[in-house]
Amino acid sequence: APSLTAARRETKATCCYCGVGCGVLIETDGAQITAVRGDPDHPANFGRLCTKGSTLALTAQPLLQQQARALVPEMRTERSLPRTATSWDATLDTMAQKFADTIRMHGPDSVGFYISGQLLTEDYYVFNKLAKGLIGTNNVDTNSRLCMSSAVAGYKQTLGADAPPACYEDIDQAGLIFIVGSNMAYAHPILYRRLEDARKNNPQLKVIVADPRRTDTARDADLFLQILPGTDVALFNGMLHLCLWEELTDTAFIDAHTDGFAELKRTVRDYTPKFVADICGISEADLVTAARWFGESPAALSLYCQGLNQSASGTAKNAALINLHLATRQIGKPGAGPFSLTGQPNAMGGREVGGMANLLSAHRDLGNPQHRAEVARLWGIDSVPATPGKTAVDMFEAVRTGQIKLLWIACTNPAQSMPDQKLVREALVNAELVILQEAYATTATAPYADILLPATSWGEKEGTVTNSERRITRIDAAIAGPGEARHDWQIVVDFAQRLEKLLDRGTNLFAYDSAESIWNEHRESTRGRDLDITGLSYAMLSEQGPQQWPFPTGALTGKKRLYEDGIFPTASGRANFVNTPYKPVAEPIDARFPFRLNTGRLRDQWHGMSRTGTVAQLFSHATEPAIVMAQADMDRRLLSGGDMVHVTSRRGSQIFPVQAGDDMRAGQAFIGMHWGEEYVSGRGHGGEGAHGVNALTSPALDPSSKQPELKHAAIKILKAELP
Ligand code: SF4
Repeated sequence: APSLTAARRETKATCCYCGVGCGVLIETDGAQITAVRGDPDHPANFGRLCTKGSTLALTAQPLLQQQARALVPEMRTERSLPRTATSWDATLDTMAQKFADTIRMHGPDSVGFYISGQLLTEDYYVFNKLAKGLIGTNNVDTNSRLCMSSAVAGYKQTLGADAPPACYEDIDQAGLIFIVGSNMAYAHPILYRRLEDARKNNPQLKVIVADPRRTDTARDADLFLQILPGTDVALFNGMLHLCLWEELTDTAFIDAHTDGFAELKRTVRDYTPKFVADICGISEADLVTAARWFGESPAALSLYCQGLNQSASGTAKNAALINLHLATRQIGKPGAGPFSLTGQPNAMGGREVGGMANLLSAHRDLGNPQHRAEVARLWGIDSVPATPGKTAVDMFEAVRTGQIKLLWIACTNPAQSMPDQKLVREALVNAELVILQEAYATTATAPYADILLPATSWGEKEGTVTNSERRITRIDAAIAGPGEARHDWQIVVDFAQRLEKLLDRGTNLFAYDSAESIWNEHRESTRGRDLDITGLSYAMLSEQGPQQWPFPTGALTGKKRLYEDGIFPTASGRANFVNTPYKPVAEPIDARFPFRLNTGRLRDQWHGMSRTGTVAQLFSHATEPAIVMAQADMDRRLLSGGDMVHVTSRRGSQIFPVQAGDDMRAGQAFIGMHWGEEYVSGRGHGGEGAHGVNALTSPALDPSSKQPELKHAAIKILKAELP
């Protein structure tokens, strides 16, 4: 609850950046945010904040708000005309009429929603219900598809539910921490501080890092496996092969609690140390050490993120790592388990309400007729459509080809963050109507919007978020939004009530008067499910602080870690080993495109920089985008640091300054994901078609999770002759 004096108040919230979900206290003078500090009582951070979190107050300054924020609804009547300011009523009436006409003429699948892991759980819930419950389309997907969908698929295939089984406290209790495909020191800094503390407190704690780049996280490791991009499955299969050979697997646990091990065992028989070392580009000795440390540790905890997820074999990577944990029983005990780190602040909340094209509320599956019937009953509708919705990349392809005519984008910036920007931008141009619901009017997507809906943002909203360790935090609004900005859930509800009348459904599905009333309905949908939160309430979250799920009725606390009893949420109660043969990256290098491009986060920026890009000090770490290469590769091409180079893939070409980095192996290159066309054009050397690194990335998808392979594309690099 707000505290301090009447003039100076502090409000509890969470940082709006990464999935660590640090608690913050927002100080206001009644009208403006004056300071932000870490919440000492929040169990995610105990008062600590990283460079991004500690500069949050600077992003909320009134002048910046005036310059960068969307303040009033805007519409245009023709594509060739600029948008002009209009009223909320006129905008929502126009939208509802357009949706009703299009749905009647072309069917419900002619519209699509592309939303965001930065929305609050309540926002996510109503978007999902609008699409699947009222309109009758499953075309609702989210930028979490680019972030966590392989983790979701990996958990479900092996453990039976999308539930990270470990918690932050396990970092303190682990004997071995295996970090794979994650530069935690940059991307989850406060959790990394916790790991550093754990190492100080326990000198026996070992850390292995597997990553194609020698990141700051890798530099601190006791053992660094600099694997070739995309070879993680071979690494995990090889470690399992060695654990079998050295009798480090737990046969009793495998027999009592799992299925499918015999088939996997046949597969990993071929993953000999020599075979794996050759695929991964590491030494056999290091592979053996990693397997021994993992299998012999009293408690091995794996922490992983986009290096596993953003891959055309992302689900197999997740499953192969979980296989290793199951086979060695490094799960369901303190300090052990596979633990996916969430990228965005509320990707977990979105997953909980089923805010993706293949999911339904409370971890139900769209493909399951019983689950569809349960959700229809909860919502009071006849049925939920069975036709699978379009997932992110496929949705933009459907918009490009005219299959989806109306596209509503909320709180995300696909004209920068999606792979294969040529496809995305053609889609945005071809759509009959693009609606953008955004706090910032400055994103690369904004120029494509026919209708701009100003939304409230961090510090201005009330609701809940869930962090990487399944912990739900209730957040309060510290200040009102600027201009005529409205809460995301309110915009959806106001629109849905209009559309409901126009479609003559005779229902009243959106009778919500607060974020809490939405959350209460979501809570009811979880009853009896693996993520049951019926024992929680807004009041309880405020009084007792953030809580982990599951937290069913009658429970006194949430569950720190899952599966301690060896019972898994599958039909049989047993976990599944998934057979995971290694497959190479989708776009191998060749003579024309001889370099492997990797993309990722930098330390002090967040996503497309709509917020962090307004803080000067956050540019002190990296002032501009660059392509980082091995010095040997630069020498061979007669390149010096700062030279401009054309970076070209099969999808496009961009110009970047080049930098030498001792974190790179020869033949590989890295570009930060944060800069888009604004920077490139601003420097005057981007020109038409300059859209940042995602002009180059590949739309190749994982077959199960439909997550694109943002971490690998084949490129060529040539010195640019600039005037
Ligand atoms: Fe925010 Fe993540 Fe930094 Fe915590 S670690 S302050 S959640 S960016």
